[in-house]
Amino acid sequence: MSAQAARDYEAELTSILDRCNVAARDYSIPTKEELPEGYTGVFGHFPVYFPEEIVHAAKLLPVNILGGGNRLELKIADARMGSFICSICRSTTELGLDGTLGDMVGFMTHPICDAAKHLAGIWSRNVPNQLSGILYLPQNVNSPGAARYIASEYQRFRGELEKKIGHEISDEALRESLKIYNENRRMIRELYRIKREEPWKVSAPEAYLLVRARTRMPCEEHNVLLERALECIHKRNMPAQDKPRIVFVGGFCEQPPLEMIEAMDDNCYVVDDDLLIGLRWFTEDVPLTGDPIWALAESYIIRSEASPVQHDENKPKEGYLYDMVKKSNADGAILTAAKFCEPGLDEQIAWSKHFDELNIPYLVLEFEEKMTSFEQMAMQMETFAESLLFAVA
Ligand code: SF4
Repeated sequence: MSAQAARDYEAELTSILDRCNVAARDYSIPTKEELPEGYTGVFGHFPVYFPEEIVHAAKLLPVNILGGGNRLELKIADARMGSFICSICRSTTELGLDGTLGDMVGFMTHPICDAAKHLAGIWSRNVPNQLSGILYLPQNVNSPGAARYIASEYQRFRGELEKKIGHEISDEALRESLKIYNENRRMIRELYRIKREEPWKVSAPEAYLLVRARTRMPCEEHNVLLERALECIHKRNMPAQDKPRIVFVGGFCEQPPLEMIEAMDDNCYVVDDDLLIGLRWFTEDVPLTGDPIWALAESYIIRSEASPVQHDENKPKEGYLYDMVKKSNADGAILTAAKFCEPGLDEQIAWSKHFDELNIPYLVLEFEEKMTSFEQMAMQMETFAESLLFAVA
């Protein structure tokens, strides 16, 4: 490839990443006039996993509401939630109540923890014009009736949404949406393969921003963006640096600030992580034949990633992180939890105990989306990275 062609690819990737960066810092939702062509409204959902295909097939733009980041000042939410509740719940409430998310058709949360369950109640009382509530996904997916239960819950949601928008959501439209989302997840899996096998080609903040862009744009548009980004990344010819390889966990729900991901990237190659795991939940394509709701429900159980909010005896807490470390050939792990996040803190204890037994190096950190100071954390990461390099040498 000529030097000019390499520069052109790099310039294209920079412009894609600039667009993703702007999207990551925008917490508003599009007005009716700003909606992408073909969409009639916005439907918000809380992390971790949500079957966006159902909303997409209804011609609504699914938006993953990820709190308010570290620039939002809480003025209203603190009167409705205790200060011991995680930041993402409080800032999401703020955005709902201050009108930022006021025009959404609906907002769904999940029973992933007490805080998220209560968020649904607060939302339905304070924003009664929206279709809001809890989409119940089983925490114990090993029960024989789990897939049937999920399918009936999806059908309930589909029916309520049809009533709200005044038209049917057909199986055909659902299959079309599944196809678009399958393509999207396939490309994200390729991005993560590059992270594992050639981490010098894509930095942790770059990969994160590329995936996060899907939280705010139509999946078909994100497919075009990802396709171009992947081509540019494949063409990159960058030398590997002398950095240790680590796995980062704890970003499954509340998101760490971008500055924290940048600080990690300064010191380590983040070869795998659980950031935004709900957006890339399926490990294989969801089948396009048969009943699309059943295909989605069954895939939630048998073709899915692991996270601290799902209890699956086939993916034990200790086992799935160890698998991530092994598969990505990592030298160690950064085990984090968002402040006040019960599922995250539970998992952190199991992980660290297991890694002590196996003698795998790890660093425990706590973060909050509203953090603004990173010097101390960066210093801890630097010391950890040096200890890993020393151990490897
Ligand atoms: S960050 Fe943790 S505690 Fe907060 S809503 Fe998410 S899973 Fe629940």
